[in-house]
Amino acid sequence: MARVFNFSAGPATLPETVLERARDELLDFRGCGASVMEISHRGELFMAVAAQAEADLRALLGVPDNYRVLFLQGGARQQFALVPMNLLRGRERACYLDTGHWSSQAIEMARHYCEPLLVASGSQSGYTALPPRDSWRIDADAAYFHYASNETIGGLQLHQPPEVGDLPLVADMSSDILSKPIDVSRFGLIYAGAQKNIGPAGLALVIVREDLLGAPLPGTPNIFDYARQAARDSMLNTPPTFAWYLAGRVFQWLLEQGGLAAIERINRRKADKLYAAIDGSDFYHNPVDPACRSRMNVPFTLARPELDARFLAEAESAGLVALKGHAAAGGMRASIYNAMPEEGVDALVGFMAEFERRHA
Ligand code: PMP
Repeated sequence: MARVFNFSAGPATLPETVLERARDELLDFRGCGASVMEISHRGELFMAVAAQAEADLRALLGVPDNYRVLFLQGGARQQFALVPMNLLRGRERACYLDTGHWSSQAIEMARHYCEPLLVASGSQSGYTALPPRDSWRIDADAAYFHYASNETIGGLQLHQPPEVGDLPLVADMSSDILSKPIDVSRFGLIYAGAQKNIGPAGLALVIVREDLLGAPLPGTPNIFDYARQAARDSMLNTPPTFAWYLAGRVFQWLLEQGGLAAIERINRRKADKLYAAIDGSDFYHNPVDPACRSRMNVPFTLARPELDARFLAEAESAGLVALKGHAAAGGMRASIYNAMPEEGVDALVGFMAEFERRHA
């Protein structure tokens, strides 16, 4: 069976070698006669898997010692709630930057717990550009500053973390974590759902500076309290062990690729090729300001939308799948996370040129 090039936004394609390795050790994990899914999370074997995954993640991102790494459940949306529940620390306001669908969703969730201050919104540009930095209204007394580093639907990415003074910077990195090196010490907290650049769905990663922990909102259940999860090595619940194991395999694969600087070079090349194909044609269009175009999710439209269904059907026949844009955006979207091979992008670019030649 041939694998397709899968441009899904998430759950998304995983490195083939990771899947092969998981397949090879599925029935008998390290000679224990059972799969990694079937053993106790508190047993020596799984504890070693969990510790190695954390160590490899720390190595990849250069996570400083005063940060805790949590492997939680509930996806990224749960973090929309857990961030205010844990980080308000007695304050009533938190700053939120609105750059599109996901940051807006985080703001809506925050309203249940605090007064989210809208620092600036890209809504006037249809979320195709960042609001100019000198228009931002930052409240220095707010509890933290939240933003989404990459808007998965709109295809807008902040390539550098914003300057926010002394406020703890909180980033939803669900769709660009591990795609390039970052300076973790600039952040108070980073979170990400796993199903794009980390592993299978069912896991959310949280990297949080220790001094921000320990003062959750009154009534916060222990499983939602970062400090208590940290004290129990993310095992207050039975963790999603298979997802954690597979995430560990992905981290090893990234290390084998040469780490995040190496993966960033490939990611830039892939994105440059795809945007060049779009910009070099009158048939395809991406509306996002080139200064903040996403290197992970590339939305584009056809000059003749009546051809959308045909484009998708022919692409699928060519082994290029899941290119349909999000329902909220329409058109197409190619998600080109770490695990999308460069040949996948080359094949897509070739297909697009050929489709245009036949139909423009
Ligand atoms: N934030 C971003 C940037 C996302 O892309 C997504 C999912 N696509 C979410 C949050 C929500 O993630 P989950 O479904 O894991 O809750």
